[in-house]
This record gives sequence, structure tokens and C-alpha cells, in this order.
Amino acid sequence: MYGMTIGGEDVPAKDVFDVVDPATGEVHAQAPDCSPEQLDAAFAAAEAAYGSWRRDEDARRAALHAAGDLLLAGAGDLAPILVGEQGKPLKEATFEIIGAGVWLKHFADLPMPRQVIRDDDAAFVEVVRRPMGVVAAITPWNFPLILACWKIAPALLAGNTMVLKPSPFTPLTTLRVGELFRDVLPAGVLNVVSGRDPLGAHMTVHPVPRKITFTGSVATGKRVAASAADDLKRVTLELGGNDPAIVLPDADPAAIAAKLFGAAFQNNGQVCSAIKRVYVPESLHDELVEALADQAARTKVGPGLEEGVTHGPLNNRPQFERVAGLVADALSGGARAVTGGKPVDGPGYFFEPTLLTGVEDGSRIVDEEQFGPALPIVKYTSLDEAVARANGTHFGLSGSVWGTDTERAAAVADELECGTAWVNTHLALHPAQPFGGFKWSGIGVENGTWGLEGFTEVQVRHRAKG
Ligand code: NAD
Repeated sequence: MYGMTIGGEDVPAKDVFDVVDPATGEVHAQAPDCSPEQLDAAFAAAEAAYGSWRRDEDARRAALHAAGDLLLAGAGDLAPILVGEQGKPLKEATFEIIGAGVWLKHFADLPMPRQVIRDDDAAFVEVVRRPMGVVAAITPWNFPLILACWKIAPALLAGNTMVLKPSPFTPLTTLRVGELFRDVLPAGVLNVVSGRDPLGAHMTVHPVPRKITFTGSVATGKRVAASAADDLKRVTLELGGNDPAIVLPDADPAAIAAKLFGAAFQNNGQVCSAIKRVYVPESLHDELVEALADQAARTKVGPGLEEGVTHGPLNNRPQFERVAGLVADALSGGARAVTGGKPVDGPGYFFEPTLLTGVEDGSRIVDEEQFGPALPIVKYTSLDEAVARANGTHFGLSGSVWGTDTERAAAVADELECGTAWVNTHLALHPAQPFGGFKWSGIGVENGTWGLEGFTEVQVRHRAKG
């Protein structure tokens, strides 16, 4: 069992909760269940560390580089921990940890925005970004470590300190990284606590944090926003998505199938910005379905540590049951499972990669966020109609348009109401590129200078002359 990190120290658990290996459905570890007093201690430690951390930008940059290096060097040891709790194949787990290291090092070198807006006989006026103080960070189970580092890197670079809580489904890698970072971060700068969902709610009403950075579902995000409103804590919310991919009539199904399939089924579709519905013209429908089915045939579903596995289990039983329920609902409504359509026999939360045709907007599998390996392929007749249907949702995280004439595809992508509009790709991310959602997909962005600004307040420094 990994310990919580509070004030740079290992804090013994007073109580624990079980962590299940999704490949077996069995309990394989336990994690500390943070008590209210321990949460208070974590926030107090973050508050105490803030003053000196905020004042030394060089030290912050050096520490973030060192933290990034630890992840890059430790990926081989950390990846199996991530596989054991999350389920993803070892290669993807390794990729996530390396990505987290890259993110930390990217931010370590990112300039802090500042701008002189006036320098004349009367005054020197500069606009700078000040840290907020203590940040509470709450993360989900699909990418536990990299999403934590999307928060840690900019928040700490800006000069904040943090209390971080991973999902109760996937606390282990984050706890272990908290232990590792004790060597490179001053005590109290990053405190890692774990616990069941109510711990997150306690964090959002706690009087110490000035900012909540949250990644998770829309339903929880709304609760976070409501409780943060009470004392006007700042919030960044990275929430769910129902990303459309619009295939244009001039697209080449064989050429785009691998990318489309990858962006829909990566991490078993448990990606906030995975492709969750495909709109295709009648003329290309059968060819595209065939090309995607060919991709599905190349997958190997199994435990993440097994050689050659491309898709692990779903992360947890509620999610497994949700995906199974949405697929069953689609099938009972007349949809056809071109591939998959059912769980894999045996233990664990495995579900066959599923392509669904004969579905329409208005069905749950199209309208809701399935967050699983089940992709509806929906026909459209006119492009205007496809765009309207793509936008006709409460979600607005991202979307993509696919076609041979990239100028035309880009013009269609410009019509999408979402945080990232991709052309002939999907899920292409970069630490310099802001990521966030319109509408119910969130508030604010992460990554890039824009994400960094989300962990700051604007301060005007006005010095009178003469
Ligand atoms: P979730 O909302 O159930 O849980 C997310 C986190 O919130 C967990 O740590 C949980 O313990 C905590 N939590 C639960 N109740 C809380 C409360 N009342 N107050 C504060 N915290 C609370 O989400 P999940 O099932 O872990 O993750 C899946 C969802 O996350 C999907 O909807 C997915 O699209 C979304 N997601 C979004 C992004 C993004 O960047 N937009 C990235 C990854 C996942």
C-alpha cells in the first residue's frame, strides 16, 4: 500500500478502501482513506509551504524539471502499477507516464505571462500573473497520472501549492508519484490524499483552497461548481464529451479508418475527447463500416500486462455495466453490432470493441457519453444537417472533420461548437495547446499559456512617476 503525502511526510492510514484490478474484478490493493483531520493537515501544509514557494521561480522551474525527470526515469516501474489499477495495456501506461514527465518539463520552461501596458512620464504599469494560493485538484480514473500532471505542472509553476486527490478507482499511481516527488519538491508543495468520493466534496467546501481544478463527469462538475460558488473559489472544470467525427463525401474510408478507429477506441473509448459518434454520408457508409470492422479485427482484448494486448478491460464495474446497458439499449432499438456487441466471457470488465450501425440521433448511444468501446456510425444526407447534429448536444469538448480536400474540411470544422476542432485527426494533443470544452464540457482550459493563466490572478502593478 502506498502512503499519502502530507507536508512531505508519509502519513499512516487510519482507514483504508479496496482497489480492484479491472482485469480480474478482484481486490488487489488497498489505499488510505483520508480522514477529515488529515485533509485539514494537507491543506495546512500546502498553506504553510506557499509563501516561500511563491517567491522562488527558479527553484520552481528546477523542481518541475526534476519531477519530470523522475517520471521519465521511473516509467518502467510505474507503468505496471497503472496497468493494475486502470487496466490499460502496458505500452499505453508507459506512454501516459512518459507524457506526464514531458508535461512537467514543458511547463518548467514556459515563460510566465507579463506585459507592460504603459510606460510614460506619469506611470509605469505592468500586468502580471500572481499565484492564487492553495489549489485543490481532483482527477478521474481514465488517465490518472497525466491528468494530474496537467494540473500539477502549471499550478506549481505559477507558484501555487496543491492538495491532489485521485479517483478512488485509481489512487495507486498518484500516491506512488507523491512518494517519489518528496525527494524533489519542498514539503507541503504537493500533498497527495486518497479517499472515496465524499473526500472530493470535502475538498471543494474546505476554506483553505482558493481554486478547484477538477476533471471528471458533468454531473460531478456541476456539484463542484455549486459548492465552489459559496465562497467564490475559482474553478476549472474539464468534463465529459460526446465528440462527433464528420466524414465528408470526398473522404477515403480506407485511408482514414485506422486513425478514426484509434481515436474512438483508445483506452477503450474511456477518453473524454474520444470520437463518440461518427457521421457519414450514405455513399460512404458501407465502405467506412467495412474499413472500421477491419480495424476492430486487428485488436486483441485482454489483461494489460499480456503481450500483444491492444485493449484492456473497462476500468470499473459501474462503467462496464453502463456500456453494456447502452449497447443493449441500442440493439433492442434495432441497431446492428457489426463487431462486438457484448462482454468478453470470463472474469474482469472486458467488452468487445463494438461498431454499431442502424442507429439514429435520439438513441442513448448517440446522445449520451458512452465512455466505452462502442461506436455508433450514423448516416447523414446534407452537410448542414450533419453539422447541426454534431452541435446539437449539451457537450462541446472537441470534434473532427475528415476529407481529402483539407480546405473544405477545415471550413466545416470551423462550424463546430467545441474546444478543439480537428481536421483529419482527432485526439492530437500537445502541452502548448489549450484543451477545454464549450457548454457542459467544462469551464476554462488546461495546458499552454492559457492553462497556466487559469492558476493565476491578474495583478496590475502601477508605479507612479515623478
Ligand atoms: P467522476 O465525476 O465520477 O469523478 C471524478 C473525480 O471526482 C473523482 O476523483 C471522484 O472521487 C471525485 N468526486 C466524486 N464526487 C465528488 C464531489 N461531489 N465533489 C468533488 N469531487 C467528487 O468522473 P469519473 O467517472 O472518474 O471520470 C469519467 C468522466 O471524466 C467522464 O465523463 C469523462 O469524459 C470525464 N473526463 C474529462 C476530461 C477532460 O479533460 N475534459 C478528461 C478525462 C475524463
